[in-house]
Amino acid sequence: MNYKSFITNVPDFPVDGIQFKDITPLLDDEEAFHSAVDDMAEYAKEIHANKIIGPDARGFIFGASVAYATKLGFVPVRKPGKLPRETLEIEYDLEYGTNKLCIHKDDIGKADKVIIIDDLLATGGTVKASIDLVERAGAEVVGLAFLIELTGLNGKENIKGYPYKSLLKY
Ligand code: AMP
Repeated sequence: MNYKSFITNVPDFPVDGIQFKDITPLLDDEEAFHSAVDDMAEYAKEIHANKIIGPDARGFIFGASVAYATKLGFVPVRKPGKLPRETLEIEYDLEYGTNKLCIHKDDIGKADKVIIIDDLLATGGTVKASIDLVERAGAEVVGLAFLIELTGLNGKENIKGYPYKSLLKY
């Protein structure tokens, strides 16, 4: 599947200098979306994950879809003020701005081998923050999966030592 043909580059969104990768044409194409979810699901099985984690918000789309395809549970990593029970929290830098993420403290634990799934790896800040939350909750991160990897931003450095798969690279 040529995933790149379903991604639209939008210059200077949401701020000047950012080359925004719009994934909505891929979501809107039944074959491309199914294929992307299937590729991620295959990887999740290969690394023997037993839980899927997806960061707010586009990580929900792929994470929950892969959870359905693999018949595994899904745990959201969310922005502050959204999760009703006790949470673990982390603040980190983004390619543009800063962000805070939270996870329910008791959603995952020692028995869990987690794969974190997001639409895009840029600086790696979001996924690194998610890794930290998962590990603070006592679970193990066995791998990461992304639709897109922006190699120029060197997100790889932030996820050193963690196996990962990206379906396409820029
Ligand atoms: P980062 O934490 O820098 O790896 O950024 C990853 C998150 O920000 C992903 O969940 C993306 O949804 C979003 N993001 C960052 N940079 C871009 C970009 N150039 N195009 C589209 N989404 C982006």
